[in-house]
Amino acid sequence: MSHVFHRTADPIEVARAEGCWVYDTEGKAYLDAAGGAIVSNIGHGVIDLGDWVGEVDYVHPSVFTSRALEEYADRLSNLVPVDGPKIFPTSGGAEAVETATKMARSFQIAVGQPERDVIISRSHSYHGNTLGALDLSGRPTLRQPYESWLGRSQQVPQVNEYRCPSPQHPADCAGWHARQLEEKIIAIGPERVAAFIGEAVGGAATAAAVPPDGYWEAVADVCKSHGVLLIVDEVMTGFGRTGKWFAIEHTAVRPDILVSGKGAGGGYWPLGLCIASAKVHDTIMGAGGFVHGFTFSHSPSGSAVGAAILDKLIEDDLVSACEIQGKKLMARLQNAIGALDVVGEVRGKGLLIGVEFVSDRESKKPFPREDRYIERLAEAARKEGLLVYPSSGCVDGTAGDSILLGPPFTISDDEIEMVVDRLGVAIEVVAA
Ligand code: PMP
Repeated sequence: MSHVFHRTADPIEVARAEGCWVYDTEGKAYLDAAGGAIVSNIGHGVIDLGDWVGEVDYVHPSVFTSRALEEYADRLSNLVPVDGPKIFPTSGGAEAVETATKMARSFQIAVGQPERDVIISRSHSYHGNTLGALDLSGRPTLRQPYESWLGRSQQVPQVNEYRCPSPQHPADCAGWHARQLEEKIIAIGPERVAAFIGEAVGGAATAAAVPPDGYWEAVADVCKSHGVLLIVDEVMTGFGRTGKWFAIEHTAVRPDILVSGKGAGGGYWPLGLCIASAKVHDTIMGAGGFVHGFTFSHSPSGSAVGAAILDKLIEDDLVSACEIQGKKLMARLQNAIGALDVVGEVRGKGLLIGVEFVSDRESKKPFPREDRYIERLAEAARKEGLLVYPSSGCVDGTAGDSILLGPPFTISDDEIEMVVDRLGVAIEVVAA
């Protein structure tokens, strides 16, 4: 009998992991086409933690800095698309999101606008499971048990071209979304709004929906004209996942605050990052400082591991590899499963690829939730030795079945073929 409070009833015991493969204790091999939870970017078993951790184990982050932290922040400052970046490391994505919202609030207080306390996010979004981050997340099933503790943030419509809520779609979707945001800001009262947050490219909640061209530029303009800070969530998309170091670099926008996680530590360390522009940092620090912190923020060991991930990404040119292999995987999926009756759309960028499943292609009607289509598909894939990242609710919060694929950037051409073949078999098994 296990004494662990597991997340699911019957987890598989892992024995080891190597490259794109995970092996259980019974010797079964799984092709990790989801990089765990879109985390593993350099692949499994590449870095020996013993090489990186240990110069300093722990010091209090409000008393000490460390060489590892300073060097890591220096290197990041040349990579992140934020002006005069100041790096606040955390232990994961949700902590980074919480840090970002508190930074936005602290900035508004520092500029003499303390009544700005509302954050606007999007429906069908995900920013984390802590209460502050969950409040921003538009995923009803995750919110439902805790709804009475939530409700401070406000939402604008989802950004998903396949299910675009704009009545004029496909004409000027970017402009329509920007107007929705502006109308929401005006309805709340511009003097009340602290920040807007959105995922650079959608994650599990929209199955890697890529915003339409011009979306981020239009949204950034609206934010700027109303004194609203722009927070871009790159927890899933950062560190190369979409074929650029950060997904917002596919646009001309430079956010006030950028959050990242997952690939920052590549699975080797629970690392999140909240990165503020010099304007945000200097304003807050100039007005007395930032009332916030965690015991395990600014970790010297975490910084050393983060630097090792950067080394590997740079030395092996893995961000370019992600772009190249992402195009191959996308093309092979489109070709092999894109025209199946149950496949609504294959979408995404780089090695962040989503597949949305439907019961009827014509009307885009989802399977009834009771069918548990996506759970059955993930199970069938696992039996074939393929790990995918399943999700439900992409249509109305409850119905809507999708998977994310996000393998390590080191995935080979042969492994791409295996992903496509095994997924095809799993789809057939569920159909039967
Ligand atoms: N933001 C986004 C876009 C995410 O995808 C996630 C995790 N799936 C989070 C925030 C939360 O990160 P964590 O699970 O590390 O708290």
